[in-house]
Amino acid sequence: FAYPMPVNEPVYGYAAGSAERKQLKKVVAELKKAEADIPMYIGAEEVRTGNKVALHPPHETAHTLGYFHEGNESHVKQAINAALAAKENWAAMPWEDRAHIFLKAADLLAGKYRYQINGATMLGQSKNAFQAEIDSACELIDFLRFNVHFLSEIYKQQPNSAPGMHNRMEWRPLEGFVLAVTPFNFTAIAGNLPTSAAMCGNVIVWKPAHTQIFAAQVFMRVLKEAGLPDGVINLIYVDGPVLGNVCFSHPDFAGVHFTGSTGVFNQMWKTIGENVGNYKVYPRIVGETGGKDFVLVHKSADVDATVTALVRGAFEFQGQKCSAASRAYLPSNIAQAIKDKLVAELKTMKMGSVEDFTNFMNAVIDEKAFDRIAKYIDAAKQSSDATIIAGGNYDKSKGYFIEPTVIETSNSKYVALCEEIFGPVLTVYVYDENKFEETIELVNTTSPYALTGSIIAQDRDAIVLATEKLRNAAGNFYINDKPTGAVVGQQPFGGARASGTNDKAGSMLNLYRWLSARTIKETF
Ligand code: GLU
Repeated sequence: FAYPMPVNEPVYGYAAGSAERKQLKKVVAELKKAEADIPMYIGAEEVRTGNKVALHPPHETAHTLGYFHEGNESHVKQAINAALAAKENWAAMPWEDRAHIFLKAADLLAGKYRYQINGATMLGQSKNAFQAEIDSACELIDFLRFNVHFLSEIYKQQPNSAPGMHNRMEWRPLEGFVLAVTPFNFTAIAGNLPTSAAMCGNVIVWKPAHTQIFAAQVFMRVLKEAGLPDGVINLIYVDGPVLGNVCFSHPDFAGVHFTGSTGVFNQMWKTIGENVGNYKVYPRIVGETGGKDFVLVHKSADVDATVTALVRGAFEFQGQKCSAASRAYLPSNIAQAIKDKLVAELKTMKMGSVEDFTNFMNAVIDEKAFDRIAKYIDAAKQSSDATIIAGGNYDKSKGYFIEPTVIETSNSKYVALCEEIFGPVLTVYVYDENKFEETIELVNTTSPYALTGSIIAQDRDAIVLATEKLRNAAGNFYINDKPTGAVVGQQPFGGARASGTNDKAGSMLNLYRWLSARTIKETF
């Protein structure tokens, strides 16, 4: 069964007055007042523990969207048992049949559930309609369809044979269960991590971020409706340490598919290392972690293109992307022009609720994020090394709102140039336009991360030099574009160094990690 390269799901525009916008607004209003009661999904059961935790829209914290039922250690064990019980049938199911479940889920998301999943992402994660559409509709649909295509390509790969023998590769799933630990910032990533591994015949324990549960459970219901057998993916809501204690000490632990912070990933890796003699197999450890993504501007750059890359790269999605532009290196000849235009542009940006479609910015995800980001802003206000040239205000009285903020520093090691902030804060550093090579070196060595980065230049030699010298500074490198917005099937996504294992999401590289091949030789 070869599944051809799909086309990317077309993006709905939600233009003012359109039927799409009306429909989405209606669904958002319904979701908002439904007071959802959200169970965990373990095997065939919907598990309601009675330990209910309220969910609030980050942009309207006084409102309650509903409740999820929190689990404990025993639910992690139940989820593992349900996964292991489902394993034999799932792994034995013909690939075509497994694939059809995910293709059907993609179609359900594209049609019947599009507004539901977008509405849930808007309300639960404070993304406006346009951001939700790109994430929870298009990107998630693309992950499902493209992964089916890529996996069908992998399954086709077979070794040579010679007279008197036949060789074949059997693309087995891993032995045991796979843990998917998923982030709040993309519904698409939250959906991709469990499904990409499941597609390969693996069984999954899926723990989303608490702040993404509102949309995660919509996707889980879509998978069930598409025919996913009970136990193949088990969705549980527990604290990270509770999850880790049970999963990482389990002999059947076969791998973890993670997106989140570098600190958490390091901790996971250590715990797995400590337990390594106790597993039946060496677990696969796949993680996409932090970023401190750069925009390097050359003296030949177009000012307007630079400003667009900075505004969109740094502030779309409230800057809550691993890939967000968070440090920019501006050449002295055009630095002032770029800054002036950037500041003017940001003044026109509206911020507020997702229910108002004219808002460019919404709230950051929760109080912890708000406080962390505010701390960087406060530090800049107090530092003699830094000046705030745009934004700088924040307010959590109604929701977690932080103005798009630009910090300027003349200290190339200033903290906001080095550390990941994960919010709407961009730090700019002006360099001597004649010191491009030195600045490339600075870009390469300032942060431990290597996720994304951009070079903005019209001079081809500058582009070549930056591309060459920054080979290891970014897993996704953009020329004359923002460093965000990777599209499945077009720009396989991931980074190395402290940014993760670089097993590109939405590509064959990632799927290989969930397979353990057996080579079979038969002599005649
Ligand atoms: N894939 C997204 C992008 O290219 C970012 C994903 C992330 O933030 O983890 O912008």
